[in-house]
Amino acid sequence: MSFITLQHINKSFEGQTVIHDMNLEINKGELVTFLGPSGCGKSTLLRTIAGLVTPEAGSISIDGRDVTNVSPKDRGVGMVFQSYALFPNMNVFDNVAFGLKMKKMKKEEIHEKVMTILELVGLTGKEQAYPHELSGGQQQRVALARSIVVEPKVLLLDEPLSALDAQIRKNLQQLLRSIQQRLGMTMILVTHDQEEAMVVSDRIILLNNGEVEQEGHPHDLYMNPKTEFTARFIGHYNVLSSNEIVALLDPPSVEAGKVYAIRPEAFRLNPGENTLAVRAVVKDINVLGSIVRYELQGDSVTFVADMLQQRMSGLSLQDEVTMYIEEQDVIPLS
Ligand code: ADP
Ligand code: MG
Repeated sequence: MSFITLQHINKSFEGQTVIHDMNLEINKGELVTFLGPSGCGKSTLLRTIAGLVTPEAGSISIDGRDVTNVSPKDRGVGMVFQSYALFPNMNVFDNVAFGLKMKKMKKEEIHEKVMTILELVGLTGKEQAYPHELSGGQQQRVALARSIVVEPKVLLLDEPLSALDAQIRKNLQQLLRSIQQRLGMTMILVTHDQEEAMVVSDRIILLNNGEVEQEGHPHDLYMNPKTEFTARFIGHYNVLSSNEIVALLDPPSVEAGKVYAIRPEAFRLNPGENTLAVRAVVKDINVLGSIVRYELQGDSVTFVADMLQQRMSGLSLQDEVTMYIEEQDVIPLS
């Protein structure tokens, strides 16, 4: 049986439906991400699980207990938000200890738990520091420690890293994932950042207008988008009509009227078995780091191809190239 179950959840604001008949199952120890564009209902869904939003219909159970009508504080959930909301007049130790003091835990036990958690989030030695003396990343580590130390059944995180700089954000993604795996915690993370979702998740639930568009392991979602929405949101797929595919590649089987997706990195400079050839002119070059992204003009169709950055293999603007792609990398969408 799943650890968290949502059945037929509906929620609307001012007559606008935000969550449509949502059914979800989340397993114990799983890190699930709600991914999707701004306004698609991610936070509303998360807050519904926390009990901060009351749905018009449907039921929620956590760890075998129906919590639909249970108040937020009695659901056994913890929450971390984008803003750290630490107590400014308390030092790091007291911020983290707060929830345990509320539980009337013994002093020695509190000390041990707080020190263990601070080590886990890499803040040993910062016990006496006040929030204003910490960087944004450190403050969010405190917020994370404070939520984890009380051992919630599930930790809900709403864009916890969105306000942080790219490098700190990457570090904290790794930290979050390693803590989650070490403790075997059930976590639900809300993000609009597909790369973040890819890095940390056991399963991504891609939301579109309050409904599940597609869900699965990050790799599965990336390699097998079923719809145009997924192909556009995950990765930088080329999304092409059947006519465009015929003009570009002329593959043996194309269904008229269907839409197809091709990953930019599916293109290669060398032919192989079962490859289709594409002739194109280089129109733009973007160096993304280890990858170079080429914008190419094929026969009446522009598309994007990614190549690994390698010495001597670079193309220049206006170069004419022939690229190759395997038939199976032309993915029909529904
Ligand atoms: P996301 O987190 O995916 O960006 P939200 O769940 O915050 O999206 O919001 C989904 C939709 O619901 C948006 O159109 C938003 O304006 C609306 N909404 C969210 N909360 C409220 C509220 N308390 N009152 C009115 N409308 C709301
Ligand atoms: Mg949100």
